[in-house]
Amino acid sequence: MPIQVDIVTPDKRLVSDMVDSITLPGVEGQMGIMHGHAPLLSTLDIGEIVLHRGANVDYIAVTGGVVEVRPDKVTILAVAAEQEAEIDVERAEAARERARQSLAANPPPQRHAEAVKALQRSNLRLRVAYRRRRERGPSFREG
Ligand code: ATP
Repeated sequence: MPIQVDIVTPDKRLVSDMVDSITLPGVEGQMGIMHGHAPLLSTLDIGEIVLHRGANVDYIAVTGGVVEVRPDKVTILAVAAEQEAEIDVERAEAARERARQSLAANPPPQRHAEAVKALQRSNLRLRVAYRRRRERGPSFREG
């Protein structure tokens, strides 16, 4: 039986749909949710949300937030989230370069955590944006 999924960001309602299952980046690892799941409230890490609809799989980049799971509904309030096609690759590349330079110029702990998070966000966005291309051939390396 499908489950309703709503993903909301401060800017917009990104997803409001029925899915067969959803995978979420919980702070303690990926969580798989299907209809009938026990209620829970959890925080989300930087990572991928995966929506499964039949043979169709969609990936969404999320940079954190909270999720409320009920047996028939998953509601995600995301800090920021983008679907694959929305990701501006040049912007993510530029953000990654800035984060790398910041890490090289500021040894820990000085502004280190902030740059590590920025690097994680940009790597995530590039991973989601390049996934389809990468599935067709090895062209993208994280770092
Ligand atoms: P940047 O330094 O490029 O702003 P960031 O990681 O600091 O990157 P966030 O603070 O996570 O950006 O996001 C701010 C807003 O910009 C959010 O609405 C997010 O969805 C959007 N956003 C950030 N990076 C991208 C991107 N590469 N493509 C599309 N939207 C993006």
